[in-house]
Amino acid sequence: MLPLPIDPLLPEIVATLSRARALVLEAPAGAGKTTRVPRALLDAGFATQGEILVLEPRRIAARLAARRVAEELGEPVGRRIGYRVRFEDHVGPETRVTFVTEGVLTRRLLSDPQLRGVSVVILDEIHERHLVGDVALALLRRLVQDTRPDLFLVAMSATLDAAPVARFLGDAPIVRSEGRLFPIAVEHADRRDERPLEAQVASAVKDLVAGGLDGDVLVFLPGAAEIRRAAEACEAVANRENLLVLPLHGALPVAEQDRAVRPAERRKVILSTNVAESSVTIDGVVAVVDSGLARIASFAPWSGLPMLRVGPVGKASLAQRAGRAGRTRPGRCVRLFTAGDFALRPDFDRAEIHRVDLAETVLELTAHGVRDPAEFPWFEAPPEASLRAAVTLLSRLGFLTGERGALRVTPLGARSLAFPVHPRQARLLLEAEARGVGADGAALAALVAERDIVVNDSAPRGHRTTSTSDVVDALERLEEAVSFGNAPHRVRAMGLDPLRVSTVDRARKELSRLLPRRGGAPRPSSPKAHDDALRIALLAGFPDRVGRLRRPANATGRAGLEVVFASGGSAVLHERSAVRDADLVVAIDAESRTEGARTKVVVRLASAIEPDWLLELFTDDVRDTTEAVWNDAAERAEVVRRLSYESLVLEESRTKGEASAVASALLLTKAQARGLASFAEEDVVTHLRERIEFLRGACPELGLPVFDGALEAEVLGVLCEGHTSFAELAKSDVVGALHTRLGREATRALAEHAPERLTLPGGRGVRIHYEPGVPPWIASRLQDFFGRKTGPTLAKGRVPLVLHLLAPNQRAVQVTTDLAGFWTRHYPAIAKELRRKYPRHPWPDDPLSASPPAPKR
Ligand code: ADP
Ligand code: MG
Repeated sequence: MLPLPIDPLLPEIVATLSRARALVLEAPAGAGKTTRVPRALLDAGFATQGEILVLEPRRIAARLAARRVAEELGEPVGRRIGYRVRFEDHVGPETRVTFVTEGVLTRRLLSDPQLRGVSVVILDEIHERHLVGDVALALLRRLVQDTRPDLFLVAMSATLDAAPVARFLGDAPIVRSEGRLFPIAVEHADRRDERPLEAQVASAVKDLVAGGLDGDVLVFLPGAAEIRRAAEACEAVANRENLLVLPLHGALPVAEQDRAVRPAERRKVILSTNVAESSVTIDGVVAVVDSGLARIASFAPWSGLPMLRVGPVGKASLAQRAGRAGRTRPGRCVRLFTAGDFALRPDFDRAEIHRVDLAETVLELTAHGVRDPAEFPWFEAPPEASLRAAVTLLSRLGFLTGERGALRVTPLGARSLAFPVHPRQARLLLEAEARGVGADGAALAALVAERDIVVNDSAPRGHRTTSTSDVVDALERLEEAVSFGNAPHRVRAMGLDPLRVSTVDRARKELSRLLPRRGGAPRPSSPKAHDDALRIALLAGFPDRVGRLRRPANATGRAGLEVVFASGGSAVLHERSAVRDADLVVAIDAESRTEGARTKVVVRLASAIEPDWLLELFTDDVRDTTEAVWNDAAERAEVVRRLSYESLVLEESRTKGEASAVASALLLTKAQARGLASFAEEDVVTHLRERIEFLRGACPELGLPVFDGALEAEVLGVLCEGHTSFAELAKSDVVGALHTRLGREATRALAEHAPERLTLPGGRGVRIHYEPGVPPWIASRLQDFFGRKTGPTLAKGRVPLVLHLLAPNQRAVQVTTDLAGFWTRHYPAIAKELRRKYPRHPWPDDPLSASPPAPKR
């Protein structure tokens, strides 16, 4: 076996781990940590009780390390040494060391919380601070503290930041291997190079060759697409100089990855992503060309779906990259950016936990029994806002229930954990599966993760102008592309990106494999039902992205369609979206676009939905409200019934004149504002009120109620019951209702002691006027009082009525309460005057013995 710097330390590592059970190992990249430590533990018998798990942050490292260790043991992969990465299994019954990545360990902990059958867990490259490693570190510490004190933990780091991890693991001992690094001549670009990246790479390689290159070149590029372009650009110089150009990134077949790492006859130019920074070491590299860029794990702000964003890396990574040229002798590093650019970069890249979407992690932690993710003993706590967003989304997806502090995973959420994807995709898949379209659901889930497979900005052939779903359209185009066997030129001619198409195609196959083989829901019976099922599945994954399509008055052509979201806010629909005739849509992807000083949200991919689907999927979120509104013209309360999803009104109906509690209540408030009196004939209400007021003052002992606003409101309340309009109130028996409220006693007392009318001796009836602040009075012809010595009284005889004695012209000749006094003192003179003016009327000298004239009929 090739001697490696770590070898002399292996006995110490074995001894320290046996003693302390936890260990942090710090050694530079290439020292032999990944390939030698698991093997040393295997040889020392650590894997007799259980197996050794090695968590790698990258798939490529897991695959290559497993191959290398197996090879050094003279065995194929899958014998004693295996690996298990997302969607890929290479383990066998004899496997003792398994390299795993991503969620494999977290999910294994879910199905087997005690991690039975595992005796050692090695967390590799913890300096990378990937989310999965951080979470695993905390979960394992908890497990060791709780129920597995016998579990051995090793954390390995390629940089000098092992101390915090050692502290977190209860002051675990640190074993260090001082690396030997030869001097490296670092050169920066003089000025910003405006040429495409691949041209810069090709000319850097050309310059290195011209400068007398006698080894391999390692080029750091952000991703597979840049690598492919750089490979093309380097073709000329490679042919001329007899160089071997080899790509190295995670999506390549393992044999090709191996080829880049293995020694070769010719000088190699390895075009690599940041996997070669510390995960993979290539011997023989004497020069590094660094773009200074990497694809950085991030998330689409719209969906939270994972996304890789190209961005500059920090100084620590740049130093690590440069160091790859000085492992065995002095080397060179050519940076494709300026020294000024370098100076502005941060020392370290921020740990993933501070910048990624946490929905999947929070779901897993809740499944681990964590009732509030903020309470979890994180190695480094994530931002509270990310936790809150994750809990909200998971609850809406129906994966979590309960409040923070009592969170639980629902049965649906538990099923979703079978799919190693973002919870939105998992929800989509589960819905599709339940509707008999699981395979297409897998493709849709893969498509939404890749955001878009279309490259051309011009609408390519076959692109529909209107459709019900941009994503279902993309699915059809994906199928067409796949039917051409993904031949890149054909795919590109379709306006699609071949790399993305193959990524989606691979992801869809991997996801389909996780679907139950048989016994699922029956397939939809018609193409329409099939299409509906797909769009329902999309909706299920994006319940918080529903909106209504609106065409503003000034909109023209394809531009200007707006989406008004149920959750508030609005966006414009991308001109290339074909979903133009829908009413309700779900926005699957959107981005911010800055125009001048304004930033707006542009929906790139939309899918039409039916209101019924919201009811069906999110029954609890659809509110059914009834509200009464006042129709001013009709003077009527009308009932509006609304079905709404957040702020979005799905259905509205108005019923007129149909009695209901809300309608009567509204009628009552409106009627109160108008006053009870306005619904009765003339002034009956006022009259009654004044009679009561009078009698309350004159005979307090009767205990009559106060006729105030409250009493009026009470009576109105009774009258409004079962009615909706003023017209109905006007037809109702207001006085009857008042009397009912007053009661029989009070009504009888009123009739007796403060009657409405009075019958005079001649049989003539007159109305009694009750007015506030004046004694009650009546008015009648003077002759009506002939034969009467005294005037009538009210209130048990306590109050004499004021009499307005009228001449035939209806003018009062006297106003008095003293009829006897009138006859003797004033009548003789008044009679004389009246005889002259009205000679045809009788004006007897002795009015007390005369009789009043009969009332006219
Ligand atoms: P570390 O994990 O400390 O960075 P590794 O264990 O990955 O170191 O690698 C140690 C040495 O083994 C490196 O110098 C590397 O060149 C060599 N090596 C590892 N894997 C392979 C492989 N698949 N093919 C050839 N050499 C390899
Ligand atoms: Mg390593």
